[in-house]
Amino acid sequence: MIRQLQSHDTTERLGPDDMASLREQQHLEAALIGQAARAERSRGVPGVCSNCSDTCHPCAVYCDEDCRTDHEHRESTLARQGRSR
Ligand SMILES: [Zn+2]
Repeated sequence: MIRQLQSHDTTERLGPDDMASLREQQHLEAALIGQAARAERSRGVPGVCSNCSDTCHPCAVYCDEDCRTDHEHRESTLARQGRSR
């Protein structure tokens, strides 16, 4: 049997814990979207590491985890200082 999930809002059946995790998930998704948009603005082209400008995977923004962490750390520091670049 196919359950008709789209015919009505299923969230009303959720308990407080479920609602919390749902909100958490939505928050996470929003954060990820914001992160992607920020990444779009803050750097350039996929395939070139945003941190060290080295060539990396065509779909990647950074050549490795260290560069990502380093760059994001700098980004957030600049953001805290009220600058965008
Ligand atoms: Zn790099």
